[in-house]
Amino acid sequence: MSERLTSEHILHCLEKTADIGGWQMELQTGKLYWTDKSKSMHGRSVDFEPDMDAIQHTFVPTFDIIVNDIRKSHENGYCRKVVVLLPNGQQKSMLVHGSVEKINGQEVIFGAFQDVSIGESKLKHARQQASLYHTTINSLVEGLVIIDSQGLMHTFNSAAEQIFGYSANEVLGQNVSMLMPEPHRSRHDGYIHHFETYGEAKIIGIGREVDGVRKNGEQFPMHLAVNPVMIGDENHYVGTIRDLSSEKNVANKLEWLSHYDEVTGLPNRTFLLNFLNRQTELVGMSIFAIDIDHFKRINLAHGYKEGNLTLARIGERLAMQFGERHFLSRDMADRFWMVVRDNGNQAASQVHELTQAIHECIEKPIEGESAIHHLTCCIGVLLLDGHQDGSSVISRAETALYEAKIKGTGRYCIYNAITSQKLLKEYGLEMSLRNALEQEKLECWLQPKVNTKLEMVSAEVLVRWRKEDGSIVPPDQFIGLAEKIGLIATLGRLVLRQSAKMLAKINRSHADFKLAVNVSPKELMETDFVDQLLACFRSAGANLHNLTLEVTEGTLISDIDEVNDIMQKLSLHGVELSIDDFGTGYSNLKRIQELAVSEIKVDKSFIQHCRPGEPDHELVKAMMMMAAAMDYKVVAEGIETLDMALNAFQLGADYLQGYYFGKPQPFDNFMVLLENFTPELEWQHR
Ligand code: C2E
Ligand code: CA
Ligand code: CA
Repeated sequence: MSERLTSEHILHCLEKTADIGGWQMELQTGKLYWTDKSKSMHGRSVDFEPDMDAIQHTFVPTFDIIVNDIRKSHENGYCRKVVVLLPNGQQKSMLVHGSVEKINGQEVIFGAFQDVSIGESKLKHARQQASLYHTTINSLVEGLVIIDSQGLMHTFNSAAEQIFGYSANEVLGQNVSMLMPEPHRSRHDGYIHHFETYGEAKIIGIGREVDGVRKNGEQFPMHLAVNPVMIGDENHYVGTIRDLSSEKNVANKLEWLSHYDEVTGLPNRTFLLNFLNRQTELVGMSIFAIDIDHFKRINLAHGYKEGNLTLARIGERLAMQFGERHFLSRDMADRFWMVVRDNGNQAASQVHELTQAIHECIEKPIEGESAIHHLTCCIGVLLLDGHQDGSSVISRAETALYEAKIKGTGRYCIYNAITSQKLLKEYGLEMSLRNALEQEKLECWLQPKVNTKLEMVSAEVLVRWRKEDGSIVPPDQFIGLAEKIGLIATLGRLVLRQSAKMLAKINRSHADFKLAVNVSPKELMETDFVDQLLACFRSAGANLHNLTLEVTEGTLISDIDEVNDIMQKLSLHGVELSIDDFGTGYSNLKRIQELAVSEIKVDKSFIQHCRPGEPDHELVKAMMMMAAAMDYKVVAEGIETLDMALNAFQLGADYLQGYYFGKPQPFDNFMVLLENFTPELEWQHR
């Protein structure tokens, strides 16, 4: 069969160039012929003689089906992928080719096997790689763009799509310069060329901040790092991109917030301080500290949102009216600042005019969301006369503001060093008094009172403030302040608590001993005064029948009705009222008569000048007579000598109190005095 040999030759040639093995089959006899290559592809040795029975089931589908299909395929030829089961149990994918030819009247199939399993697994691997690569680059948070050395884009990941606003389809194959602003856009090809020629580039290897352009034309800052890679044998460049605009926005916002106030948009205190510090010459300038009166009420009644809205409106108004000429700023809470630069002539009248204008500006009703607000403000003005650092300018203007606030609402004050010193001292005192009250650093001392038999029957409670350094502050220096700053009720409660405890202790050994406690009318008129008093005496187990309240005559006059109501209630519990400093307050005796008073204390100023023959002697005598007529007991206070004591008794005093019998002293000392109290011998002799 020369043809067969010929075709064998062809097959050999083919086999050498491709992974192909040849085979033939005489259809009439069923005789098979496989080339050596075919045998090895099927895992057989060269001695293997293929026959239908042996190979039939090593093919899926079976070999007879394949042969049948080849016979039916006519001139088109046949090609089909089949699975071949190898003797070692492995499988291979093969293409089986074949066509029927007539040779010398006999039908012969000329065929070939082509092993495709290697290619297939390579393809599968390649596909997997590609998908991995695809997933990876698209899951990068950073934008990734790969270009070739012509600058054309080959890869454009999802992050890049997000950053630039283009879809990959829109840009692939286009020049990357479309993502850059001018002048880089026109120069980009040159950059690549320069790098490829000289190996130099500003961007390769080192990342840096550059500008990009989005599809909508917006230019934005981005961080770009470029690295060259070889793909195939061509230079490519991989660029990774991070959009810096939001980071920049946050940074810008922080930068802004550090110098501006978010609510009003005005410069904040830091800005104001910097501004003041930058001014080398402050002569001829003035600064106005503007503080809205009772602003807290808006926050309390309508919430912070309304509060902020109102502040924003105030800021707008001030800016509209003064913003062009003067520097405005808003500090914390409801404090605004205005620095007036061109107020060359600082006559007080000019300041007056400006403060008027500010007041009018603030006082116009402000429409909020939930209400219309009617506001006033206080202003502290500082006239600048030379270089001062910003913070001392601010604190002086604030001192002036503080002074204005003390005067009331809608007021203004110009800074004055002397009043400010006084204020600062008072302010310092106020601070430490608040502290002292919080930490209960106030002590209640006791001063004895004696009766005509020289028995110590009662004592007056006198408050003392023990400072950090151990020094003792007398009440005259802080009672008035406590009243002024609204701390008198707190102070009074503390005194009542301590008094109740002391009284309970004393009464254990001296059942009828009484304590007199000073109360200021402001304290007395606190709505819960009676309840508080009853509660603390009850909890200390102290007897209210042994309590006398001393109210100063002078302070009593204006509130006499209220005091009377309260005293009526208290007298039901056995509490007595004493009128202190009697004779100094020009009381209307008629009115005092209406009060539930059981005692008067003749002021020490009378007692101390009450020698026979002196005018005060007659006066005291008259007071005593009057008291006797009204059935009041009389206490003479300020008794410093035996003579004064004698005098007072002769005039009809029921009780005496003064240094002669004992100074005010701490409780423990007082208890020692009480246990050992012996009347003066000299006294006994008279
Ligand atoms: P006051 O109620 O007239 O108290 C009598 C003051 O005269 C006390 O002054 C006392 O130390 C002083 N004193 C007593 N004996 C003599 C004496 O022989 N000679 C002289 N020169 N002075 C004498 P103190 O303790 O400084 O109290 C001053 C004022 O402070 C008191 O005057 C009273 O009005 C007020 N005060 C004291 N404690 C309290 C308190 O707990 N509450 C209130 N609201 N006021 C108080
Ligand atoms: Ca008193
Ligand atoms: Ca007194």
